[in-house]
Amino acid sequence: MKKKKIVGNITCPECGHKQLMEIPTSLCIAFYKCDKCGKTIYSKKSCCVFCDYGDRKCPAAEEHKK
Ligand SMILES: [Zn+2]
Repeated sequence: MKKKKIVGNITCPECGHKQLMEIPTSLCIAFYKCDKCGKTIYSKKSCCVFCDYGDRKCPAAEEHKK
């Protein structure tokens, strides 16, 4: 079985820096480190930082909608 890689752009709420990150399909990323300002960004509203700050929702969130 071939696994498709999903990537999404995350916009840092601190400095506005956009970075492309791989979205794992099996787990949620609750925090990430910004490449530019070096701050660790935690998700607040949603299950992961992609749902909060990304340009696309994580696969887990898309599953819940079905
Ligand atoms: Zn930043």
